[in-house]
Amino acid sequence: MKLHKQYAQLGSKFSNQTRPEKIKHPKVVLWNTALANALGFEFETNQVGSYFSGQLLLPGSKPVALAYAGHQFGHFNPQLGDGRAHLLGEVIDQQGKLHDIQLKGSGPTLFSRNGDGKCGIKPAVREYLMSEAMAAMGVPTTRCLAVVATGETIYRQTSTPGAVVTRVASSHLRVGTFEYFAARQMYAEIKTLADLSIARHCPQIENDDPDKYIKLFSYVVDKQINLITEWMRVGFIHGVMNTDNTLLSGDTIDYGPCAMMGVYDPDTVFSSIDRNGRYAFGNQANIAQWNLARLAECLLPLIDTDEQRAIDKVMPLLTAFPDKFKQSNNHMMASKLGFEQSNEAVNNSQQALLELLLQHQLDYTQSFVQLQHSLGSDLDAKSQSLNPNLQQWQQNWVQLLQQTNTPLAQAQQLMSQHNPLVIPRNHHMEKVLDEVESDLHTDSLAVFLSVLQSPYTLTKHTHLYQDAAADDDLNYQTFCGT
Ligand code: AMP
Ligand code: MG
Repeated sequence: MKLHKQYAQLGSKFSNQTRPEKIKHPKVVLWNTALANALGFEFETNQVGSYFSGQLLLPGSKPVALAYAGHQFGHFNPQLGDGRAHLLGEVIDQQGKLHDIQLKGSGPTLFSRNGDGKCGIKPAVREYLMSEAMAAMGVPTTRCLAVVATGETIYRQTSTPGAVVTRVASSHLRVGTFEYFAARQMYAEIKTLADLSIARHCPQIENDDPDKYIKLFSYVVDKQINLITEWMRVGFIHGVMNTDNTLLSGDTIDYGPCAMMGVYDPDTVFSSIDRNGRYAFGNQANIAQWNLARLAECLLPLIDTDEQRAIDKVMPLLTAFPDKFKQSNNHMMASKLGFEQSNEAVNNSQQALLELLLQHQLDYTQSFVQLQHSLGSDLDAKSQSLNPNLQQWQQNWVQLLQQTNTPLAQAQQLMSQHNPLVIPRNHHMEKVLDEVESDLHTDSLAVFLSVLQSPYTLTKHTHLYQDAAADDDLNYQTFCGT
């Protein structure tokens, strides 16, 4: 196993060569054996802590901090970059696909500004648990290979143990990476990035295709539509959809202030810094479109030498976004309700359901699971256990399933693949993280993780994590996990 230096080899305009910081006492808190196997990593147990805190360098590794910019809450910042992360290199999996291996919390870099380059144990474990849960639910995401405690104490609101989290990503090509070079009018570098994006993410686009950059953009649009649809399916609120946190691959990245929605409400916001609800649950598709417009601006010079012609090529893709997203979302919601296809009647039905959930403040995840159960063999008895506010709607829905000739068992089967039984609920997450902060190895961490890794199958412990928060998360707030 040897790492590649693909991104590092782009040169010093793209990244800055820098070593992870030395620490004294690395201690492995989490190690993702399944992911390690998929990547072809094999280590002696006692080496994991040294490699995945950056004390030993993996063969072939040339650690770099990546340059990027980004629109944060709508405001452009021309210089962000990896302020506390080191890209170690890329690994090729058994299918021949490249994955970035990145340490986060591994010490300061040229891009740290006033930051300390560190990461606390809670945000590190949170990223691991959230991304494992998302991956298991089938949502596109970066993954985590390891969390290693550094043995240091770092200071945030209070003092907390430091940790390094190893992130695995299909790439770290962000909208903000393109913006970094566009802001500096470095067009040759934008072309390099676009070509790399095609090679990494859509190799089906031919190199001599005159439309290759508009095709790349179209690919990214479709991936974002799919990503937001998947977030809507499971009730995920990203919380900080800045352009530097938007990957061209369409994977979820940056689990800082994210949270899960309990009670259905499109206006739900948990992030303490999102005062205007820019990144509210129901606004995520609009923001994805906004972020794509920022990417389009960067790609214009590649798409056509004539700016107006380039705009004419890009605009139809951007303006089609809302309709395409709606279609995708309708199809997803239809699946959550057991329909193979969406149509007007199904759309009206799911809309009516969401209105009921909002009006009666019902839990999103639990309601779909209850509806799924209500299709069981003893239909009348099962529907009685539904929330009374949903019973009339449930009868209309069953009728609609029957009208569309959908056998109820088949609908139930489809629903069971689209409705997670368990999500990483905020109150359970916080409880486990508090325990980890005081004692790095806890039984509850392992149990919680194993339940999250099996969201569509009832396990012995699933029931422990299905309940809504006592206060319905009314007092819950998240912070950028720095
Ligand atoms: P994030 O909120 O994680 O997307 O980070 C936004 C920017 O702040 C990125 O450029 C990060 O590298 C940088 N940053 C966040 N936390 C730290 C830290 N503790 N030390 C240095 N830079 C940081
Ligand atoms: Mg970020």
